[in-house]
Amino acid sequence: AKSAGGNRFELADPEADARAITRHGLTTALPTALERGEFFIEYQPLVHLGDGSVRGAEALVRWLHPQHGVLGPDRFIPLAEHTGLIVPLGRWVLEQSVRQAREWRELHGGAEAVGPLRINVNLSPCQLTHPGLVQDTVDILERTGMAPDALCLEVTESALIGADDDLLKPLRRLAEMGVDIALDDFGTGYSNLANLRRLPVSILKLDRSFTQSMQQFPADPVDLKIVEGIVSLAHSLDLAVTVEGVETGAQADQLRILGCDTAQGWYYARPGPPERLHELALVDATG
Ligand code: C2E
Ligand code: CA
Ligand code: CA
Ligand code: CA
Repeated sequence: AKSAGGNRFELADPEADARAITRHGLTTALPTALERGEFFIEYQPLVHLGDGSVRGAEALVRWLHPQHGVLGPDRFIPLAEHTGLIVPLGRWVLEQSVRQAREWRELHGGAEAVGPLRINVNLSPCQLTHPGLVQDTVDILERTGMAPDALCLEVTESALIGADDDLLKPLRRLAEMGVDIALDDFGTGYSNLANLRRLPVSILKLDRSFTQSMQQFPADPVDLKIVEGIVSLAHSLDLAVTVEGVETGAQADQLRILGCDTAQGWYYARPGPPERLHELALVDATG
């Protein structure tokens, strides 16, 4: 606040200043953070709604910042996308996650009826347009000795809206290899449902907003109809439906009745260290 005129554009906003400083500080610290190994991954189980078995996990990256403590991805992924660091960071997340999945497979023997635990990894739009995506993924699978069908790459619906063939080509190649592609945050991007046929996806991840609308029992009849419609369309196109953000048993029940295949959320487990996922899967495997 400089002049007595009170121009509101000159009023100090200490919180906004602090946010900007932190953003700047975080942005400049990102490259060294990767070199210093300050990122780590938490895993959240993906549970089969029909029988409650753990089928895999989604990898969610975190940053253990030396001053600020643990930062969630919403704090730094946008900055990493802006600076391009998302490409090496994303590659690191992919390699770590696939290695982890192999370790689980070794621990579990991989001989159960449900097959080896699968690993879901988020891809940012910048990684999609990066020319190394397919080769990097092939290299990582080869180095770790993992089959492509143990991997699912999650791409947000908004990243694929209006996608042309150039953008879809790498995803098609990955899908042909056997990597699953999931459409993340589905239902928030106003995409043309008929367009789904064009996309090389095999899984729809229904956005958390739908799950939230299943809070009451019985849920809002219109919301029920919408989810029912999405599920039946998805199944008719041979897509599996995963629901995110399941926080209560009532939500899980509704979504199972509506025909959803897989669920993820705090009701089952919060994201956690890899040992936790292993324990959950083991308990599950032994009844
Ligand atoms: P997302 O892919 O939609 O991941 C789901 C988010 O919902 C995660 O937040 C997860 O912790 C949270 N969540 C899970 N269960 C529940 C629940 O029952 N209730 C509620 N309220 N939330 C739940 P998180 O870990 O903060 O990640 C936020 C976003 O950051 C992710 O959203 C994803 O878009 C992005 N992200 C995370 N890891 C990566 C990564 O390695 N690469 C990229 N490109 N993006 C990532
Ligand atoms: Ca995701
Ligand atoms: Ca999501
Ligand atoms: Ca989300």
